[in-house]
Amino acid sequence: MTTNSINQNNQFNTNIENSLLIKYGMNILNTPFVSDDDIQLGLGEKYLIIEKLLEAHEFAKTNVMAGNITGRGFATNVCTADRAWSMGTNFNNTRNDISSICGERSAILFSYNEALLRYSRRPKGKFDFKIKYLCMASNIDLDEITEMIAPCEDCLSWLNTNRYFNFNTLVFSFERTKEKELVVRASRLVNFLPYKTYATSNVFDLNKEIRFSKNSQTSFIKYKLDPKDALNLLSEAHKKYLDNDFSNISNQKIACSIIANDEIFSSFKVDWTKRWHIEPLEFCVGNAIEKYRKDTQIKAIAYFGDECAKDKDKIHYDGVVSIKSLGRIRQKYAQNDTLLILNFENYILITTIGEYLPKKFVQGYKIS
Ligand SMILES: [Zn+2]
Repeated sequence: MTTNSINQNNQFNTNIENSLLIKYGMNILNTPFVSDDDIQLGLGEKYLIIEKLLEAHEFAKTNVMAGNITGRGFATNVCTADRAWSMGTNFNNTRNDISSICGERSAILFSYNEALLRYSRRPKGKFDFKIKYLCMASNIDLDEITEMIAPCEDCLSWLNTNRYFNFNTLVFSFERTKEKELVVRASRLVNFLPYKTYATSNVFDLNKEIRFSKNSQTSFIKYKLDPKDALNLLSEAHKKYLDNDFSNISNQKIACSIIANDEIFSSFKVDWTKRWHIEPLEFCVGNAIEKYRKDTQIKAIAYFGDECAKDKDKIHYDGVVSIKSLGRIRQKYAQNDTLLILNFENYILITTIGEYLPKKFVQGYKIS
């Protein structure tokens, strides 16, 4: 990967006399912006982003000091397309995901509510809410941080929509380079979601072109599988998809098949309501773990299903693949090199979890 310095221009005219930059002894010269993407930012914008990152850092620290139950502090400063800033921190009723929300989602909710309030006071035209920047920070002291903070897979599955985010949405975070230099890492949100623009197909045909990702060949060798096994797995997922003719209140059928150890497990999405369901990948993996216990090794995953849920005449692009479930299973039983097989309109893609979800969430905490 190449890292380019982001081009600067000289439009800086922000008053920073009382800013956090002074408190932390930071400026553009000692805090460069780096990115693997082509991103253009003016000098004034860079100062503002550093300040918003520092503000989020201090807010994350406050959350820990105030006794947040996880002992972890994260905060995000979000900027909307019409340049309104809002900040939110992680909110944890308990340590588990049901009653917790990450800093970035907390900030987006805050921002959305504020934008809607402004709109309700002066409704004019269409309500248009789009996020421009996400400035993410943690409570870790700036001299101790290492890698950038990336949105976790729960957040990514939440951000994986074109409704409030788009190609231009940028994510910023402090990072310390290998040379120990403190920099601001800038990334496009879509680069955390590389297949965001590709919708899978629910038309089954094994005679399509097969595309292999760069790392898939190594995974075939490691797991002693071949492309025929991958196509067979997709075919099993398709059979399971056809088998689900009763449980889909959402009118969205999704099936998943996995190879765990040397056995195939298949499951389909079961809806409780339009909104609540059992995700089929986690269902499959649960069945495999019941059988193989701690020795469970997930070698390959195939998803097949409908990209859209339908509600009367309305179509909702809820997606087939669960970023959240992939993120969970790669913590245990699956790996970054676990194969992932997806059915697109003109080809079948054989990739790996690590390539599909390119950035692993780094908590950045020292475990003592
Ligand atoms: Zn998150």
